[in-house]
Amino acid sequence: MKNVNPKKVLQQHLQMEDFFTGDFTIRSRSAGQEQQQSKTPTNEDVIIELEKIADEVRKCRKCEIGYSRTNAVPGEGDPNARIMFVGEGPGADEDAQGRPFVGRAGQLLDKIIAAMGLKRGDVYIGNVLKCRPPENRDPKPEEIINCLPYLQRQIELINPEIIVALGAHATRALLNNNKSIGQLRGIFHEYYPGLGKPPIKLMATYHPAYLLRNYSHENRQRVWEDMKKVLEELGLPMPEKGKK
Ligand code: URA
Repeated sequence: MKNVNPKKVLQQHLQMEDFFTGDFTIRSRSAGQEQQQSKTPTNEDVIIELEKIADEVRKCRKCEIGYSRTNAVPGEGDPNARIMFVGEGPGADEDAQGRPFVGRAGQLLDKIIAAMGLKRGDVYIGNVLKCRPPENRDPKPEEIINCLPYLQRQIELINPEIIVALGAHATRALLNNNKSIGQLRGIFHEYYPGLGKPPIKLMATYHPAYLLRNYSHENRQRVWEDMKKVLEELGLPMPEKGKK
C-alpha cells in the first residue's frame, strides 16, 4: 500500500465537500497549519446559485411528476429574505405559470403577508415539491426524498431568520417527523440547515388552502397568532389591526 498523508487526505476531502455542497469556504495552508476563512456569500453569489438551482429544477426528471408537469416551480422572492414561506407543492395555477402560490391559496397568502405589514417581494416563497402532483394528491415519500435537497439548498443560500412552514406536509418534511399540524403549529421549532450551521427557527401554521376550506374565525385567529409570533421574534412592528 502507498504511504498516505492523513493531512492531505483530509484537505482533499474538505475540498470535495465544498465542491458538492457549494459551501462558500476557502481553506488554505498557512505556516503549516490549516486555516479556515469563511467568506460570506454576496447577494450576487446567492442570486447566481439560486438561479442554478432553478435551472436544475426545470430540467429535473427524477419523479413521474417531472414528466406530467407543465412547468416546474422553483420558488421566488427576496434572496436576502428574513422570512421564507414553504408550502407543499404547486397546484394547477402554479403549474400553469411556473410561480409559487399564485392561485386562490396564494391570494390568501398574499393577504397574510400584507397583514404582517410586508410585501410579497420582501419574503421568499418556495415549496417542498417543485412539480405539481396530479389532481393535487398528497406528495409521495419518494417525491419528497427526491425534491427536498433543492429546498434545503435554497434555505442554506437564503439563510432566513425564520421559516414559516405552511401545513403538515411542509412542516413534517422539514422537521422530519410525522406529527399533526395541530401539534406542530403555534410554537417555534428548529430546522437544522447542515452540520456546523446554527439552527433556523421554524414556525408551522395552517396551509392557506386548508384555511380556505375551513374559513372559521378561530382558524384565521390561529394563523394570525402564529404570524404575530414571527413578527415579534424578528422585532418587526405589529400592524395596528393585529395588536390586540
Ligand atoms: N399550495 C402549495 O403548497 N404551494 C403552492 O405553490 C400553491 C399552493
